[in-house]
Amino acid sequence: MRRKDASVILDLTPDATEGLAIAATVYQRFGLAGVITSAKDGRHSTGSLHYSGNAFDLRLPSRCMPQPWNERAETLDYVVQEALIHELGDDWDVVLEKHQQSPWDWHIHVENQPKG
Ligand SMILES: [Zn+2]
Repeated sequence: MRRKDASVILDLTPDATEGLAIAATVYQRFGLAGVITSAKDGRHSTGSLHYSGNAFDLRLPSRCMPQPWNERAETLDYVVQEALIHELGDDWDVVLEKHQQSPWDWHIHVENQPKG
């Protein structure tokens, strides 16, 4: 899976690296070329798992499609989210984040949070 641009710093933990590989296969299964929009870079909330390399953000599936975006494509976001939850398992949280002003900043936040 490619990074959005050179500003994206991966530097993920081994577990998160493994999770990213799993996420990439999920995107591929839906015919999507996934894009990592943030990992250990950028601004995140205080205490975010991004800062320890345990979280990464992926461009919304509906915005990875080759054809023009449309509202119906949003269904795909939920389907892919469910697939990620299923494939990654209990130690992961997969959250659709769509509160940013620009839809291009909307993403799926994925974090490794072992429930121990
Ligand atoms: Zn995030």
